[in-house]
Amino acid sequence: MVAGEADELLGGVERVPRRADINAGCDDASQDEHHEDLANEPEHRAQLKPSRQKLLPKNAPMERVRGMSNAPYARVVPDRSGHSAFDYEIPGHLLGKVAIGSRVRVPVRTRLLLATVVDLLETTDIEGLKPIAELLSGKPLINPVLIQLGHWIASYYCCALHVALRAILPQVVRDAEMKEKMLLFARLAEKPDAAALEQIAKRAPKQAAVIDFLMGQSEPVAVTELMKECGVTRATLDGMRERGVIALERQAVQRDPYKEETFLHAPQLEMNPEQLAAFEPIAAAVKNPAIHRPILVHGVTGSGKTELYLRAIDLCLSIGKTAIVLVPEISLTPQTVERFKSRFAHLQEQVAVLHSNLSDGERHDEWHKINNGAARIVIGARSGVFAPIEKLGLIVVDEEHENSYKQEDAPRYQARDVAVYRAYMEGCAIILGSATPSMESYHNALSGKYELVRLLSRVDERKMPKIRIIDLRLEASRGPGASILSEPLCKAIRARLAKKEQSILFLNRRGFSTSLICSSCGHVCECPNCSLALTFHRGANRLVCHICGHTAVVPAKCPVCADPRIKYSGAGTEKVEELVSAFFPEAVVKRLDADSVSRKDSLKEALHAFRTGKIDILVGTQMIAKGLHFPNVTLVGIVNADMGLHLPDFRGGERTFQLLTQVAGRAGRGDVEGEVYVQTYTPFHPAIQFARHHDFPGFWEQEIEFRKKTNFPPFWHMVLVTLRSESESHAAFSADTLARRVRESLEAGSLPEDTMVSNPAPAPMEKSHGQYRFHLMLRTRRITRLSKGLHDILEKLTFPEEVIVSVDVDAYQLL
Ligand SMILES: [Zn+2]
Ligand SMILES: [Zn+2]
Repeated sequence: MVAGEADELLGGVERVPRRADINAGCDDASQDEHHEDLANEPEHRAQLKPSRQKLLPKNAPMERVRGMSNAPYARVVPDRSGHSAFDYEIPGHLLGKVAIGSRVRVPVRTRLLLATVVDLLETTDIEGLKPIAELLSGKPLINPVLIQLGHWIASYYCCALHVALRAILPQVVRDAEMKEKMLLFARLAEKPDAAALEQIAKRAPKQAAVIDFLMGQSEPVAVTELMKECGVTRATLDGMRERGVIALERQAVQRDPYKEETFLHAPQLEMNPEQLAAFEPIAAAVKNPAIHRPILVHGVTGSGKTELYLRAIDLCLSIGKTAIVLVPEISLTPQTVERFKSRFAHLQEQVAVLHSNLSDGERHDEWHKINNGAARIVIGARSGVFAPIEKLGLIVVDEEHENSYKQEDAPRYQARDVAVYRAYMEGCAIILGSATPSMESYHNALSGKYELVRLLSRVDERKMPKIRIIDLRLEASRGPGASILSEPLCKAIRARLAKKEQSILFLNRRGFSTSLICSSCGHVCECPNCSLALTFHRGANRLVCHICGHTAVVPAKCPVCADPRIKYSGAGTEKVEELVSAFFPEAVVKRLDADSVSRKDSLKEALHAFRTGKIDILVGTQMIAKGLHFPNVTLVGIVNADMGLHLPDFRGGERTFQLLTQVAGRAGRGDVEGEVYVQTYTPFHPAIQFARHHDFPGFWEQEIEFRKKTNFPPFWHMVLVTLRSESESHAAFSADTLARRVRESLEAGSLPEDTMVSNPAPAPMEKSHGQYRFHLMLRTRRITRLSKGLHDILEKLTFPEEVIVSVDVDAYQLL
């Protein structure tokens, strides 16, 4: 990254963003899903005013900005709207009650819309402002820091403020329909004396049992539990209430996703000298974040990074602050949660978890638990970065290189980068950790924007696993199946079975075979909606599109030439599972992928079965690649290492290196040394060779040269604009129009001078969900100015009605 832009802040330099950085994009129509935002309420256009947001001073005490005011006007952003901000009058009865972050209902034309208050105004130039119709919550639901974060996201990621706020306030909270779960509880109305009790015991023993049970409880008991415990009916309890013996009342209960589980307290682990040295700057940053840069922990797999995080959180809590831990969705497994929950078992109630597997009710309750100040530690996936926690002292971003931190729908934010910015705004410490840091973060570390902390050896001096490369060009000639399970890999599995050790086979592709090809005419069965071959799923006996989910029956003969010789080609996890089971009939084989894990608990069950040794060989997709810790796994087989290398994506090498290193890291985490077999058709590819030698710096050096030469991140920012439509010509025409307008703006000086504009072209995935897609790629070193300029261009352009334009800043998904 280059100096002079808001993205510079991702390096944590002490620069206060200019107003423009913060405000750009917040008052305007959305670029995102552009067409849908053009149909809206023109009458409100007149009310638009330049926003008067000011950035919070660093370390500003939250109370000061939260303080209610008697301001007579409020600027609000409706959840759905073409424009982002409208001004309203605060009616007399709500004066002093409406605050920044309050949720309100406001009249827009003939409707009442849910909206968020983003600013309070002392004066207005507009006459006859409509009043706010209703104030929904007493306590503001978004704190001022998060509102500011919303402004930053809108300007940096080139989207409307209401789109950014959508990410910050989860749907279940926003809709205001989800309520607390209420249950009926019973307690004794008054304690009966011994004589009365004796009488009741004679006359009605069951009622006596109820009284006896309730006398032993310090808290009211749920009626359902009481009925079960004392074997009484609801009628009995109602009768007792009528006679004034007991009282029944409704109480809110917390829907705790982990209530069924008990977490035993796990003590601190002993740290080795390397960890102790690494912890020093971390502790210093937690204690005094104001003078500290973000810290990048580069620690090889198994080097004990998590212990550093846990200690940092401990320290943070001990000084009265709170912490957010982000982990990639995929590795937010029961094992990860358990690790944190057990260390802080004594604070069980104060740990909140946010991830996509929660029910709406659980998410609602966990979120409110955080917002009410009851939680002090939040563990979350991507959206956890918006947890409304206060007194934030630390953010940890584990596996910071993970692509899943990037949201692929609007707002297309990168949670790691948002975390760095939030830490800057809150004045708190931030730790990014990875065994394979992203090119961006490592570049920031080497250039001094981040502080680099290294853990180069595994805990307990365990050795790094030995990586063997299998050349599939030689193996494939040995016969069918050999390109999926090579002879050396089979031998290695057999040896593990004999020693009662476990193996993992990794293939990042679901299904049985990835395409059906006619042997006679070469026809490939493709999805009618997407430019992608359909995958054959043997379990379901269907052809399935992995993009749009379209399914089709498996043809008995070629749909084009009627030849019955249809070939299944390209192996998926189902096929690997079948081959392995056939080769090793004595072994227990289990497949773990999105198809086999459909129920909420089956992943947990399968992982438990594997950990307790009930499964010999685990076959799976990336679901098993990340962060899992199985002491008895001594062999990892990577079935096909080449899959990421041949996509039209400049990150292909980086992704392959990361994946190989992470997957290999699952081997040898116990007392026995691990071994990794990597099957590949390109054994000399640098990503594979550097991964083989556990040489991250070596990989980084050659990759950074390539990025520099080709003007890609981390040196340049990339913005990918996608224009899609059911009409191919409309999409193509719109892409051309936009490209022309961008070039004109560049000439006119309203875009950064260094902006590179590609020629618009069909996307590599030309058709998806029945829509044709065209790409326009822009690159610059000054992303904030480009975002702003692009925003202005899109606002003025009109496209055919059904053309959808989306803007992806710092794009990861290039297909
Ligand atoms: Zn054919
Ligand atoms: Zn499809």
